[in-house]
Amino acid sequence: MLAKTLFYPYNYQNMKRYSLRRFFFKNIFRSIVQLAFVAAMVVIIWLILGFTGAHNICPWTIVEVPILVLRAGVGFFFIWGMIIGAAGIVMTCFYPRIFCGWFCPLGTLFEFIGDIGIKLHISSKRIPHWLNERMRVFSIGVLIFLVLGTIVRGTLVCTIACPAFWICAAWKISVPIITVLFLLCWFILSIRVKRGFCRYVCPYGALTSFFVPISIHAIGKNLEVCNNCGLCAQACPMGIDFNVAFVVKSKHCIGCGDCLKSCPKDAFSWISRKSSR
Ligand code: SF4
Ligand code: SF4
Ligand code: SF4
Repeated sequence: MLAKTLFYPYNYQNMKRYSLRRFFFKNIFRSIVQLAFVAAMVVIIWLILGFTGAHNICPWTIVEVPILVLRAGVGFFFIWGMIIGAAGIVMTCFYPRIFCGWFCPLGTLFEFIGDIGIKLHISSKRIPHWLNERMRVFSIGVLIFLVLGTIVRGTLVCTIACPAFWICAAWKISVPIITVLFLLCWFILSIRVKRGFCRYVCPYGALTSFFVPISIHAIGKNLEVCNNCGLCAQACPMGIDFNVAFVVKSKHCIGCGDCLKSCPKDAFSWISRKSSR
């Protein structure tokens, strides 16, 4: 009972029923957008760019390429990746991390894996809010490590553990054992914790999260109509705790809108972050 109270601050029975009922298509419009971008990525990489093409459209290149340009004195490359990376940051200035919530194919994959974990009842219990928020520091560590690694090595050091690169390249080149171990970790993490990779590992997610506090919009919750059913907490793919405030300030928020879709009382809406201060 104590564990339930700690991990499920809302109505536990409702949440349990919800987790049995839901599977991927809970927010149809977002799912369509996500699947469209997955399909576009498959076509662009496999048919146009080739098996190492993940680099060309990876938003993380917004950090790595300028470092390599400065270090090696070469011209800019992976231009599309840098444009996508910059677009993700600009979008975050309007809505929190919506590149992650709506467009990133890797995020879609990890969300889907997390849904399978829920369906198979092998996902972990809800991570306590304080721990979920603090574990974001690991992704910041990954970001710093990759920046320093790129400066020191002068190469794309991210390749060693990048799931996007190896999903495309594993069919063509042999995968180093250390990479296999990393990918296994990301897979197990994401099946146990929905979007675990996005929450605690991804360096681009860590980068965009720094811009969340300046995003114009935020999710607001009307505490007066809420009946504490807990469906919103169960729906949130980033494990955000709605019990603590009426404005979602968490840097984990990916602007997916699943909390809005899940609430039977229409308690959620997009509000101006400025007006809520
Ligand atoms: S955190 Fe990284 S992997 Fe996850 S959706 Fe955002 S960019 Fe994609
Ligand atoms: S905000 Fe809506 S979904 Fe969340 S606990 Fe309250 S009534 Fe339920
Ligand atoms: S708070 Fe709402 S919009 Fe933000 S990640 Fe959670 S469900 Fe998505």
